[in-house]
Amino acid sequence: MAERILLVEDEEKLARMVELELNYEGYQVEKALDGRSGLELALGGGFDLVLLDIMLPQLSGMEVLRRLRRESQVPVIMLTARDSVVDKVAGLDSGADDYITKPFAIEELLARIRAALRNKGGPANVPLAVGPLVMDVEKHQVTVRGQSVELTKKEFDLLHHLLENKNRVLSREALLDAVWGFDFVGETNSVDVYIRFLRSKLDDAFGLKLIHTVRGVGYVIKEE
Ligand code: CA
Repeated sequence: MAERILLVEDEEKLARMVELELNYEGYQVEKALDGRSGLELALGGGFDLVLLDIMLPQLSGMEVLRRLRRESQVPVIMLTARDSVVDKVAGLDSGADDYITKPFAIEELLARIRAALRNKGGPANVPLAVGPLVMDVEKHQVTVRGQSVELTKKEFDLLHHLLENKNRVLSREALLDAVWGFDFVGETNSVDVYIRFLRSKLDDAFGLKLIHTVRGVGYVIKEE
């Protein structure tokens, strides 16, 4: 079955071009030319991925994303006209999975779409677990001994990456790249900060020791 992509983009020429290319690659595409109708369509569900422009009439892409994330974890790739770090960070913080700066090469967009779809479908069905901690990626849920734990998007993504690499030591840089993105501009100590959040919600709250610091190297999640 063809994967369905929602394209929310007010530049009609660009939208039409992207639609043609995506059709050619075998994707089914629906278009919305403003934020409000884009949000409506996205909330209607049934899409495997959303391509979302940031500068949109009626409702900005960021606002669409914010409202969409209250109800849906559909992968979202933001399209940003400006090469603005602020937009990217804000987008990723609001729950975007990736972003691409306009103008972009269609090959790059296709590669990012494939990656986003892969992340969504891939090993997600295998429950990720360490000790009494279980992550259900599909449901975006983390439980410890069956008790559900509330995590922010960033915390969840970081834990997800640690679990996918269980028993493997990951450097701060590797975690930053995987969770915040290669172009992240900021401090590597963001990783330390979020590790601290995770520890307090998981290890400390449940009397566990799952997240380990490897001095001078980075972090690893494993049973003690
Ligand atoms: Ca626009």
